[in-house]
This record gives sequence, structure tokens and C-alpha cells, in this order.
Amino acid sequence: MAEKGTCANPIVAVYIDDIQATDPDSLQPVDLEVWKDPVSGGMFAIDASFVAQVDEVIVSPFNSHIYLSLPEPVIELTAEGYVEDAGMTCPACRAAEAVESAGQFEVSDRTATQQVRCLFCGATWVDVYRLTGFDSLERGATDGGEEAKEEEEEDQGDLT
Ligand SMILES: [Zn+2]
Repeated sequence: MAEKGTCANPIVAVYIDDIQATDPDSLQPVDLEVWKDPVSGGMFAIDASFVAQVDEVIVSPFNSHIYLSLPEPVIELTAEGYVEDAGMTCPACRAAEAVESAGQFEVSDRTATQQVRCLFCGATWVDVYRLTGFDSLERGATDGGEEAKEEEEEDQGDLT
């Protein structure tokens, strides 16, 4: 078995997070990746563009004899991020604009759902829509009457 931690057989570091820091010279934001070295247990941040340059293998900042590989992180999209992108980005592979509806729109109570899929990676999930109000109300021909009034109040109550 080949020795672990060599340049040819690096130890896989654990991806933790993406953060931004300001370069003090250019005052530009720089994307940093935070990783954990599983050998020493230490964490470190590294310029994301540097990781691409070195083909994702670096010497451990905690031990100069150990090589670490930093595989490209696949970060799942959060629900907030998905909504921000208007449901156009696959939450599994992050492909943009590869999302296609794959089922009927189903309405129940104050929620509607629709099955969707990613044309890029084949992932499937369910979009969730919520009733948030109403718009463009046009009153019907029935005018006045106690009954009509009561119904109206009920309708508005349901929609809040
Ligand atoms: Zn996908």
C-alpha cells in the first residue's frame, strides 16, 4: 500500500466553508476556502484562485512532509439561496438554468407544490409555493345582500 500524504497520494482535506476577506493592498474582496487538515486537526484558509493554480494539492501548513488534496467542494444550495435565484439553480449540482418542471402543479390548502428536475445532473425535488395574498380583484355582478357580504368576509379571512 502506497504511503499516505505523499505528493502522489495526498491526504484528502475536509472542506469547511467559503469566506471573504479584504486584500489590504487592493482593497478588493478575496474568496478564501476554509479547510481542515485531518492529520493535525488544524484549520486553514487559502486563496481560492491559488487552489486552482496548484491543481488542488498543497503541502500541509501544519506539517511540511504531508501533502493534502483539496477536492473541488460541492456545496448544496440552501432553501434561501434557491429562492433568491428564483428556483433557477439546481440545489444539488448548482447548474444554472437547467431546472425543468416534471409534474403537475398541485394545490392544497395554502401551499402548492410541483415536482421539478435538473436536466444537468438528474436530481429531482419539489418546489413549494405559498399563498401570500390576492391581486386584481374584480367584483361580481351580485350586489349588496347580507349573504354576499358574509361570503366576502370569509374569503378575505382565508387569504390572510
Ligand atoms: Zn443538478
